[in-house]
Amino acid sequence: MTCPSCNQSASSLLRHAFSLQGVSFIKSVQGHFTCQHCGTHLRVVRFGKQFWLFVIATVVALVLFLFLFSSLFLSVGPSTTVVIWLIVMLLAVFLFNFGMWKYGVVETVKKP
Ligand SMILES: [Zn+2]
Repeated sequence: MTCPSCNQSASSLLRHAFSLQGVSFIKSVQGHFTCQHCGTHLRVVRFGKQFWLFVIATVVALVLFLFLFSSLFLSVGPSTTVVIWLIVMLLAVFLFNFGMWKYGVVETVKKP
């Protein structure tokens, strides 16, 4: 996402995924953050179409895994199935974060 104030990338993927980006936790959940370059208070207002492709891909992967779950369980055993499940979940969370970071549309939050 591009900062509307300074026209540079408003945040890096790592910063987006692993920090609150200069706002409180509650604000962060609501899509608020500050630009990494100019510190402008921004908010994610919507997502590009591509973001929904990420969401669909993630859901399809999870559904596929659920379908394969019982045969996986029988062939590789419970502990390996749990490991694979964790990897699938982490991938899903990563893809979701990546989609949000890449395709989020932000606007400047006006100070009251
Ligand atoms: Zn900026």
